[in-house]
Amino acid sequence: MSPVPARNVARVSASPVNHAARLQLLEDYLVHHEDVGRCCQASLDWLARHTPVRRAVCLAVDGETSALVGLAGIGMPLDEVAYFSWPLSDTRDPFIAALTANRAQEFRPKPGGRPSGAARATPFGDSPFLAVPLKGVRGAGDALGLLLFRSGTSISPDVAWLATVLGQKIEQVRGRGGLPEEVRKLRRERALFFTIINAVTDPILLTDTEGRLIVANTRAEKLFAATEEATEGRRRAIELNNMLFSAALSRTVVEAPSEARELLLVDPSDGSDLLFEVLSTTVEDPREGTGIVSVLRNITDLRRATEQIEENYQKVRVAEAASRAERDRLNLIIDSVADPIIVTDQSGSTVLMNAPAEELFTVGGEADPAAQRTVQANDAHFSSFIAGLLAGETGPGEIRRGEIGLMNPTTGEPIPVELIAGKVLTETGELTAVVTILHDRREALERARLFEQLKTASDELQMRVQSATAELATQNELLRRQAIELEQASRLKSQFLANMSHEFRTPLNAILGYTHMLLQGVAGSLGPNVMRQLTRIDSNGRHLLTIINEILDITRIEAGKMPMQITEFNLNELIPEVMTELDPVIARSKLAVTQQLSPEPPIVHSDRQKVKQIVVNLLSNALKFTHTGGIEVAITFTVEERIAVITVSDTGIGIAREHHERIFEDFRQVDDSPSRQYGGTGLGLAICRRLANALGGHITLRSTLGKGSTFTLTVPAGTLQ
Ligand code: ADP
Repeated sequence: MSPVPARNVARVSASPVNHAARLQLLEDYLVHHEDVGRCCQASLDWLARHTPVRRAVCLAVDGETSALVGLAGIGMPLDEVAYFSWPLSDTRDPFIAALTANRAQEFRPKPGGRPSGAARATPFGDSPFLAVPLKGVRGAGDALGLLLFRSGTSISPDVAWLATVLGQKIEQVRGRGGLPEEVRKLRRERALFFTIINAVTDPILLTDTEGRLIVANTRAEKLFAATEEATEGRRRAIELNNMLFSAALSRTVVEAPSEARELLLVDPSDGSDLLFEVLSTTVEDPREGTGIVSVLRNITDLRRATEQIEENYQKVRVAEAASRAERDRLNLIIDSVADPIIVTDQSGSTVLMNAPAEELFTVGGEADPAAQRTVQANDAHFSSFIAGLLAGETGPGEIRRGEIGLMNPTTGEPIPVELIAGKVLTETGELTAVVTILHDRREALERARLFEQLKTASDELQMRVQSATAELATQNELLRRQAIELEQASRLKSQFLANMSHEFRTPLNAILGYTHMLLQGVAGSLGPNVMRQLTRIDSNGRHLLTIINEILDITRIEAGKMPMQITEFNLNELIPEVMTELDPVIARSKLAVTQQLSPEPPIVHSDRQKVKQIVVNLLSNALKFTHTGGIEVAITFTVEERIAVITVSDTGIGIAREHHERIFEDFRQVDDSPSRQYGGTGLGLAICRRLANALGGHITLRSTLGKGSTFTLTVPAGTLQ
């Protein structure tokens, strides 16, 4: 630090002299007060009010301690002022040397330069500053103190005047001696006072009623006092804070002095918002006038926490509403289930149950003791199941099943129940609830019982069927053997009949031949009596031959040995032949026998002899069973269908409905009594049907008893080979 010639810096300002203000300072303060410290502080405050000076320090020589010490200051914490102390003995210190100068000196401290014993390098740190000596009345000798200002501060007439009156005042009060004891005490008290208020973490300020800062602790200064080196941004923030604080303070004074208010300030260090609660108290000092002490409590964090709590509270409310809705939904679901459902917590206590479960596990206080006991028993059974489940190690998705016996509290009816329980776990795997569904097993058991019964019945049936099947198989086998035997017997019978017929026919033909020769008179003429006898022999012989021939036909057909001779022929030609053959019988019958031939030539491809045999047979029967009326043989032929149909219709005795099929059976006649009126073997129609079938055709009958019959032979026109 080195002093610079004063003429460079100690410019005298041309600002108007403030006489009234000077007078006020002298009258109100300096004349009456004997306290150097207070006088110095009042003088500097006067400077702050009436001149552009915003930062200044007043130092005075203390003869007692032989040091130059800080007495008062503006624009800087007063506690710092109290720390300034330079020993007078260090005469080489240019700072001490400044006491001997007659005019203002400028100092430019070296960075980090710190005189020994001083609390800090200078009141202005490393910045250059001016030191104005405070001289006594005589103006001679060393100065009694120094007034320090920032370099560039205008040494106006007011500043110069103040330096003069202040020097004289110091001289007047204590001569050239040391500071009085009370001043030192005051200094100590001030230092203590600032130590105390600086120890408080809340900003504390003393302001005048206009909001101007009089005393502030370190915290408050950070918000409201700008140092000379402060950046533009910080300075603005501090200005803004001062404005806000003044406004708040004026409101407080006017509206509610003792009430706490919220004040939003700006943190000069980072520009963030700071919320304070301001508690202001007005203090009256007879000498200093009215002041306001304000304590600011930083409630930014508190507000943030409050907001956070409020937000959390809202979230909790929303979550609560969601969980209530979820619970309602759950209730709706479990109430809509017909099976009882119980939800228990991790300790096994029931937290929820649906209506069907309530029927089993709850009972009104006025219910009869039996029902209450039943409910208790049900509860005990269920609780022991849940206890087992809670004790067991089951995984998250695992389902545990069990069976217990419950009772209906109203009817006392036992209810076997199947329990299906699942654990509800949190994301971290902690158990929160157990959901159990109870399923009434009565129906299932009944079904199982019925199933068992059914199974037994089915097994029994199966056994019976098996034995019946075995029996049936035995019977079948028996029948098969019998059938084989019968077939053999039938074959033997047919063989026998064929042989017998042959054996019969040979002698019979001989008998008929000889009879015929006798009747022809080969053995001479015979008397009418013999002739009559012979004629009977011939007639019966021929009848016997017919029977034998028919039997032979049947046996041949049955044995499949009927020879077929397929030729192409005209049915229109066949019918007259049949008529001719039966002419004697027709003539005898005296019936009108007519024929209706086909306009289209009914050419068929079949066995001519067999077709003729059938027609002869049908016409013979018609002649035999018709007494009045007539008989018609008709042929219809449809070329497209290639079918020839021959009908033989009569107006005879007719056949009752129940005999329509039977008459086609072997040896079957409508009247088969020994006293029957009509002869015959009952084999004719049986042979006809067999032959028709063998030719690929068939015979049908339409007949009404007493009214006549129509036999229809259908022959395919050309199929058979
Ligand atoms: P039968 O040699 O006895 O005539 P059929 O097999 O030819 O044998 O006839 C069987 C029976 O059918 C006859 O005994 C008769 O009772 C009845 N029957 C057959 N044709 C006629 C018909 N046209 N009218 C009435 N009954 C008939």
